[in-house]
Amino acid sequence: MSKWVYSFSKEKTEGNKDMKNLLGGKGANLAEMSSLGLPVPPGFTVTTEACIDYQKTKSFNDDIKKQVEEALKLVESSTGKTFGGGDNPLLFSVRSGARVSMPGMMDTVLNLGLNDETVEALSKKSDNERFAWDSYRRFIQMYANVVMGMSHSLLESTLEDLKEAKGVDSDTKLDAKDFKNLVKVYKQIIAQETGKKFPTDPMEQLWLAIEAVFGSWDNPRAIKYRQLNGIPGDWGTAVNVQAMVFGNMGDDCATGVCFTRDPSNGEKKFFGEYLVNAQGEDVVAGIRTPAPINECSKNDSNRSEKTLEEYMPKAFAELTDLYQQLEKHYKDMQDIEFTIEANKLYLLQTRNGKRTAAAALKIAVNLEEEGIVTKEEALMQIDPEALNQLLHPRLDPDATKNIIAKGLPASPGAGAGKIVFHSDDATSMHENGVKVILVRQETSPEDIAGMAAAQAILTARGGMTSHAAVVARGMGKPCVAGCSEILVDSKNRTMIVGDKKYVEGDFITLDGGTGEVIEGEVPTLDAEINADFAKFMAWADEIRTLRVRTNADNPEDSETAVKFGAEGIGLCRTEHMFFEPERILAVREMIFADSTSHREKALKKLLPYQKEDFKGIFKALDGKPVNIRLLDPPLHEFLPHELEDKKELAEYIDVELKTIEEGCERLHEFNPMLGHRGCRLGITYPEIYTMQVTAITQAALESIDEGVDVRPEIMIPLVATAKELSILREILVATIEQVRGDKEFNYKLGTMIELPRAAITAADIATHADFFSFGTNDLTQTTFGLSRDDAGRFLTEYISKSVLPSDPFVSLDQEGVGYLVKFATEQGRNANKEIHVGICGEHGGEPKSIDFCHRIGLDYVSCSPYRVPIARLAAAQAVIRNK
Ligand code: PEP
Ligand code: MG
Repeated sequence: MSKWVYSFSKEKTEGNKDMKNLLGGKGANLAEMSSLGLPVPPGFTVTTEACIDYQKTKSFNDDIKKQVEEALKLVESSTGKTFGGGDNPLLFSVRSGARVSMPGMMDTVLNLGLNDETVEALSKKSDNERFAWDSYRRFIQMYANVVMGMSHSLLESTLEDLKEAKGVDSDTKLDAKDFKNLVKVYKQIIAQETGKKFPTDPMEQLWLAIEAVFGSWDNPRAIKYRQLNGIPGDWGTAVNVQAMVFGNMGDDCATGVCFTRDPSNGEKKFFGEYLVNAQGEDVVAGIRTPAPINECSKNDSNRSEKTLEEYMPKAFAELTDLYQQLEKHYKDMQDIEFTIEANKLYLLQTRNGKRTAAAALKIAVNLEEEGIVTKEEALMQIDPEALNQLLHPRLDPDATKNIIAKGLPASPGAGAGKIVFHSDDATSMHENGVKVILVRQETSPEDIAGMAAAQAILTARGGMTSHAAVVARGMGKPCVAGCSEILVDSKNRTMIVGDKKYVEGDFITLDGGTGEVIEGEVPTLDAEINADFAKFMAWADEIRTLRVRTNADNPEDSETAVKFGAEGIGLCRTEHMFFEPERILAVREMIFADSTSHREKALKKLLPYQKEDFKGIFKALDGKPVNIRLLDPPLHEFLPHELEDKKELAEYIDVELKTIEEGCERLHEFNPMLGHRGCRLGITYPEIYTMQVTAITQAALESIDEGVDVRPEIMIPLVATAKELSILREILVATIEQVRGDKEFNYKLGTMIELPRAAITAADIATHADFFSFGTNDLTQTTFGLSRDDAGRFLTEYISKSVLPSDPFVSLDQEGVGYLVKFATEQGRNANKEIHVGICGEHGGEPKSIDFCHRIGLDYVSCSPYRVPIARLAAAQAVIRNK
């Protein structure tokens, strides 16, 4: 017989804290606390598996029924009370509890078991008629809403009417007679509204309530919450049926919530709120202002209230003792719910408390210092992604926000400013001290300066590895990409969202961590790095085996990355260097050259610029490896789009405007990602690569003379065959030999593996390469046959329909793309023992993908500068997790 029901009581407890999948978080922790001998009212948990079973058949199987009845008897004997009768009636709370907390998404019923008889018994037993009838009317209100599907407001407004008629402003001023009348009226309304009588049989009440809680797993708000938080629909919720204890039986009763440390900043201070003579939902409902439990929980709105410490010193002392025990036992900050009935303290729930990232860091470091957790346990306590909150400005959580659209959370952080539609405007307004948000259909390398000038970037098209997303992450700028709800008309400088039009100069705010586009200017809070951060990250560095490099294209970003702990550059994309105003004309001249010698002439103009770029980066990385990728994008990306720019170019290279226009037409590609790019450029125009390699060699030699320790790695992109690499290697080595003359110059020459053919033939390719770097952005694109710029349009639906578990441009598809990475690594290492292997696609900064890279034994991951700390922590966690 399957086990569907687990009891918890001082006499018998069947579950424990590690059974969250089956018992839900609440059920597992109630069982754990019971077995620790803590004062938990007895009860039982109906499992998540029972929920799934119920969802299939919409009925309870006989085993479930039998096990609930047995468990109920145990609660009766443990409490000495009887359910549904007798002079000491047992009442239940019935609460949902999924594997992970889904606050307020599902339903709860309190005081279950009351009817016209048991209410009298409760009244006598408690010697408190008002309390008994107040409990009854609360029960009817909750039950009518949760189980019978009536709108909450209907009965609530009857209560409001009664208060108004009596001229009182609070429930506490109503008496037993009022509640008795209310119960009568409630029942009438329910009968009218639902056509059903309020159930008087407690057993029927219980089954219907369990059914309703199971049903609430699929209510629209729970479904939405699951979608937003990536919680699978087939987990189900457990139901916890627990003997009621009453915080509302008199002035020696209370209920409250406390945290073992401050959840907003992590300070080690016991912190919480409580209400005298109240039931749990009163604290949440905000009808009365809760009082502070102790001195340090006081704030401006509750300063004059008596603390629990003063009001019930014995219960407070006991609570203090228990919270310390719980924190030590769970090795983490706890969020505890308690009730005091006739001066006796009960614990109703404990769980690891939610906290801000700053608090999480402080708590982890302090717990280690206090000897409660080990360094490894402390490292596992923080979600690497949460570090984003520490490294970027974020929205003030207390500010109100009017969200007008949602796109992809492409680069975290929050930024507010005036809308601009052109990069030039962004630059000039920024120079005049105006904060701007750059809004584009999509960005291209031409927009670099505008992106750098903007507070944040919003695009209507593009996925998580689109140009906007990748560049913004590199710059540490917030970016919302692929926001298909907005219509951008950059010509007329407008943006339409729904039926509203926004024009240049209107304020918007972006939250790049959630993808939200918000109307107006929402206040932001600055990033908060401190000594705890350094200490914590040092622990991560001690443990991890993967090295962490960065993707950076200029000395400033490189310096930022080194500050964040980067151990080298894993990818320096050289194309962005070409867009500076004084260079772009020479680049375009090079593209329009009709002979090799003309092209070489144009390239010669670029050489000194490239050399200076590389020198700057070598200096910033003094002693650390710098991987420079030779030109990758298709040439059309550098072409002018505006007529003015075309005219300027025609004049500069002294040809007719028509020639430029025809050239632009000729070079146009529909799918630039598969076109004349990467090493294909190197094969067809070797002079481009020889110029870049000359610049690298000269920069390195000059830097060495200036005392800089340089470690260049020259990387060839988009190789599909070993032949491409061998041809280019020969040409480039010859160039280097010629440039270096008799000077000593050490370097590595290798390739990206970013095409399936390259992965499959990695053994051959490895014989010509000193290193492999997996370009998993392109490898994902080409393995799936999915365009990284356009996939955003339908990928969300793919994920919501569970066709794909997640966006493969964000988290590496381990079975498919990952298989190729693993295969190529093994083949490459077999063929070339010395080969060094890393990853430089965006996955190099994503924790699950980093875990994969660790497991398959890569040497390093490389990610954008602001993700370096995330990668360091994820790499340490990978070691701990895979021990
Ligand atoms: C890649 O393809 O993974 C890569 C790093 O190169 P890019 O994103 O520049 O194409
Ligand atoms: Mg690539």
